[in-house]
Amino acid sequence: MQHCPLCHHDAIRPVFEDRRRHFLVCQRCALVFATPGSYLLPAAEKQRYGRARRDNKQKQLAQFIATLLQQLQTLQPNVLEGLNFGRVLTPALLQPLQQSGLQLHQYDPFFAPEHQLLRQQYDFICCYRVFEHFHLPAKEWQIIVHALKPGAWLAISTPLLQSVEMFAKWHYKNNPTHVSFYQPQTFAYLAEHSSLQLIFAQKDFVLMQKAS
Ligand SMILES: [Zn+2]
Repeated sequence: MQHCPLCHHDAIRPVFEDRRRHFLVCQRCALVFATPGSYLLPAAEKQRYGRARRDNKQKQLAQFIATLLQQLQTLQPNVLEGLNFGRVLTPALLQPLQQSGLQLHQYDPFFAPEHQLLRQQYDFICCYRVFEHFHLPAKEWQIIVHALKPGAWLAISTPLLQSVEMFAKWHYKNNPTHVSFYQPQTFAYLAEHSSLQLIFAQKDFVLMQKAS
C-alpha cells in the first residue's frame, strides 16, 4: 500500500498525472508527491542539480541567505553559527557572509556530503529550493529538526502550493527533479508534530522556530 513519504499516513489520493509521472496528495499533512517509481536516477538528478548550481541560483541563494541573516539579527542579535542545508554556495559568495563573524557550514548531498555536519546543532538552518527535491522528506525533516538548537530558526525557500486544485496548472511540478510539494498546512502539521513554532508560510518562504 502507498504511504505518504512525510507523515506515513495511508489516506492518499491521486491529484494529477502526465505522460511521465503520477502525483498523489496526503489527506493528513497535505503533501503532494510524485510516486517513487517516477524518480530520476541519481546520476541524472545530480546532473540536473549541478546545472542549477552553476546558473543564477547561486546569486539568488546568496541573496536569500544575506536577507535572512539581516532578519535573524533583528530577532536575535547573537545568531552565530548556521547550516546551509542542501545547496552550497560557492566560496566567492560565501566569504563576504563569513566576514561578518558568522560561521556558515554547508551540506549538499551531491557536492558536499559531509554527514558529520548533520550531527551538530546550529542557531539557524536555511534550505534554499531544496525541500522540493526530497525523495524521503520524513527522513530529511528528522535530520534538520535534530540539527536545530533549542530556540533555533529554520528558514525554508520552496514555492508553496496554494491549493490542490491549482496543481494541474502549476509549472513548478514540470521539473522532473521536483518530487515533493508543500502546502502552507503541511508546515503547520510539521510544526505541531515537531515542537516547532510556525512563524510564517507564504508564497515561497517558510520561517519556523524550535521551542527553547
Ligand atoms: Zn502526509
